[in-house]
Amino acid sequence: MPVYEFKCRSCGQVSEVLLSMTASHPKNCPNCKKENTLEKIISSSSFVLKGTGWYETDFKKKTT
Ligand SMILES: [Zn+2]
Repeated sequence: MPVYEFKCRSCGQVSEVLLSMTASHPKNCPNCKKENTLEKIISSSSFVLKGTGWYETDFKKKTT
């Protein structure tokens, strides 16, 4: 499963997100909670886990 990096335009938080090919990418920042601030970063990193990373998978969308 590919890993995408998203950066928040508001607070600068970078998140790595596991997405399947058909999943829609997240738009809301998990750090500052603002909506539609995430933009995808083209990255060559593959499966590097960072301490502040968060993950969303197809089977973990319902977190509330
Ligand atoms: Zn943010």
